[in-house]
Amino acid sequence: ETMINQIAAGEVVERPASVVKELVENALDAGASRIEVATAGGGLGLIRVTDDGSGIPEEELELAVSRHCTSKLSTDIHDIRSLGFRGEALPSIGSVARLTIRSRTRDASSGAEIGIEGGEPTGTRPAPANRGTSVEVRDLFYATPARLKFMKGERAETSAITEIVKRIAIAFPAVRFTLSGTDRSTTDMPATGDDEKGRLARIAQVMGKDFPDNSIAVDAMREGVRLHGHVSIPSYTRANALQQYAYVNGRPVRDKLIAGALRGAFADVLPRDRHAVTVLFLSLDPALVDVNVHPAKADVRFRDPGLVRGLIVGAVREALAASGV
Ligand code: ADP
Ligand code: MG
Repeated sequence: ETMINQIAAGEVVERPASVVKELVENALDAGASRIEVATAGGGLGLIRVTDDGSGIPEEELELAVSRHCTSKLSTDIHDIRSLGFRGEALPSIGSVARLTIRSRTRDASSGAEIGIEGGEPTGTRPAPANRGTSVEVRDLFYATPARLKFMKGERAETSAITEIVKRIAIAFPAVRFTLSGTDRSTTDMPATGDDEKGRLARIAQVMGKDFPDNSIAVDAMREGVRLHGHVSIPSYTRANALQQYAYVNGRPVRDKLIAGALRGAFADVLPRDRHAVTVLFLSLDPALVDVNVHPAKADVRFRDPGLVRGLIVGAVREALAASGV
């Protein structure tokens, strides 16, 4: 069983940032309004994600760390509303690190915790806990030294963690995110709200205060697919495409089709070595997109790639033309 989990971990847990992604997504699925991510040693020493969400009932702690146990499985795989659905993250992380989960539900008068050590659950015991859940991951990859050798160094891992939290934070402006720990000075992103104004305020927190003033709103619809968000004006560019954030039905994605469409949309107004800063949300019928291509879930496959590409190129070009820049 530990072996199987370690193999799954090879897919799900590529580096510290992937652990952070899984734990933050769990916190969001639990309805958290506050999520704190603390790391040390580039996340290899410590990752602790604390939320104020639903919590895990004491009697379910052991289940939560068991393989393929998820409380989220919907009957239709295409209709996945929660971010997690495989029940693989916690057992996978537990097979390659020292894991402790401490939790308390709203109704419980006290908290409980469970650990995983060497891939084996340690048993549930009472523990003081605030309402919500705190998942602590220590000594990541201590159980798989070969994997540990592939890590790029603390600073690179820390910045990958920061990047993933920012990427998720843009999609959840009603949630407060805090990044802390010895890896960095604390970054606090207070909740800004779920409306258009709140969304733009969160984008400004992440991308910098000058982004809203240097961007144009995009809002377009084609055959039931909606595209909305912001793209920078042609004078506001970057040397790389790292600040191009894209979301499909609220999930952060890194997708070649979207990146290519953006290149196309800006081809006439930007030199080849410059990139616009963009935050774009695509919303479409979940049956028309497969976000399930890879366990890390950053890739997507559209049923009609041409439609999505045309929508992005058309809408962005139109917005640029309408704004006269
Ligand atoms: P998945 O997210 O795919 O269900 P995970 O291994 O990530 O699988 O988590 C297993 C289960 O543990 C979840 O289905 C959920 O019931 C519970 N869980 C994990 N993290 C949290 C959390 N932060 N708050 C509440 N429940 C959680
Ligand atoms: Mg999960």
